[in-house]
Amino acid sequence: MKLRSVWVFHLNTGACNGCDIEILDVLTPYYDVERLGVKLVSTPRHAHALLVTGPLTRQSYYAAKRAYEAMPPKPRIVIAIGTCACSGGIFYNSYAVRRESERLGLEYPRAGGTSEFLPVDVYIPGCPPRPEEILYGLALLLGIAEKKLSPRHYRDEEFVLPRTQFKAWVEVILKARIRKELGYFDGYRLLERFMKLVDVAETPEALKKLVEEEKLKEKDSRLRYGLNKLYEHYLEVVRTYEDILGQKRRVLGVQK
Ligand code: SF4
Repeated sequence: MKLRSVWVFHLNTGACNGCDIEILDVLTPYYDVERLGVKLVSTPRHAHALLVTGPLTRQSYYAAKRAYEAMPPKPRIVIAIGTCACSGGIFYNSYAVRRESERLGLEYPRAGGTSEFLPVDVYIPGCPPRPEEILYGLALLLGIAEKKLSPRHYRDEEFVLPRTQFKAWVEVILKARIRKELGYFDGYRLLERFMKLVDVAETPEALKKLVEEEKLKEKDSRLRYGLNKLYEHYLEVVRTYEDILGQKRRVLGVQK
């Protein structure tokens, strides 16, 4: 099916209005998004796509749910505009932000932002994103809309889930933990250093030795503390992973 235009509904789920102003910008004659066939509508009932700005707060959750359900079932596209909508942004971990994973009693995945609840098709990060970036995302939307209206059907045997990368999985968990201990900047840089040690160490003992050597080189006591913490968290995460794997093997009856 060929779409001649895409109608969008703008939903603010707790934004500071920075992203909303940028959306207004793309509607002005200067950027003129309507020339691409993108039209802002005043009700989700007429919308092909939802433009979401802001983290998903507990208060806005119900309104967002109703707006999403009111959209026509196809193509029902969701675009997260701004870092807050993509991942929670500066409101990540705020008590006011709804976290579905937390409600389910899970530590992970904890995405924050819109994707905690809505299936997001296009992420446009930035705080706020530039109008050119929003235009680019909306241009992608035109292609996605057509694909969603003429879906391919897969049979079971064709459908293969992507394999989880163990290292990436560990890194995501360590990132969340070290951010709480040392903040974004120092925490992420230290994690990079730590993961390099993980790459070369073959056993936990070897890793411990490398961490001790790295601590001797480090003058900042906060970072030395951070290295210790990362080592402890790393061991804990690896043990949890092996437990889960062991349980799966037992259920499936496969040997190691
Ligand atoms: S991404 Fe930045 S500009 Fe947009 S809502 Fe969040 S804080 Fe405001």
